[in-house]
Amino acid sequence: MGCLVCDRINLIKKGENPYFVCELETGYVVLGDHQRFKGYTLFLCKKHQTELHLLEYSFKMKYLEEMSLVAEAVYNIYHPEKMNHELLGMGDAHIYFHLFPRHYGDLGKYGNNGNGPVWWLPKEEMWDDQYRPSLDELKRSTQRLKDEILRLKAEKN
Ligand SMILES: [Zn+2]
Repeated sequence: MGCLVCDRINLIKKGENPYFVCELETGYVVLGDHQRFKGYTLFLCKKHQTELHLLEYSFKMKYLEEMSLVAEAVYNIYHPEKMNHELLGMGDAHIYFHLFPRHYGDLGKYGNNGNGPVWWLPKEEMWDDQYRPSLDELKRSTQRLKDEILRLKAEKN
């Protein structure tokens, strides 16, 4: 059976994914297709695996470390009040993290005082075409995030 995450990774390898930010040792960084939460980023695991505990230990620790670094870079650029790190996988089981920069009240009427998991938003709101970045915006945002990830990586080495 096909895997949508593997499909995306194959597009990256062919240079055909405009959402691609950069490649790290254990995964690929991509911007989310829709930016209802500005800076929404994903970190796709290089291995097609379904659970963290099924990854080999040192690879798993490196993956988590790199995920944290990507989240930090998103944080530095978008200055959220809170980062959300989510590994779900009920749609596509291949391991990947959703990294959402959040602001208090950003769910508006769909939240509990505006707050709650992003998935409380109706799909029509979450995936509304108005939140799809233009190619120009994508170029800028992916470059900016890549620069910050590389800067942080250099700083930590
Ligand atoms: Zn896969």
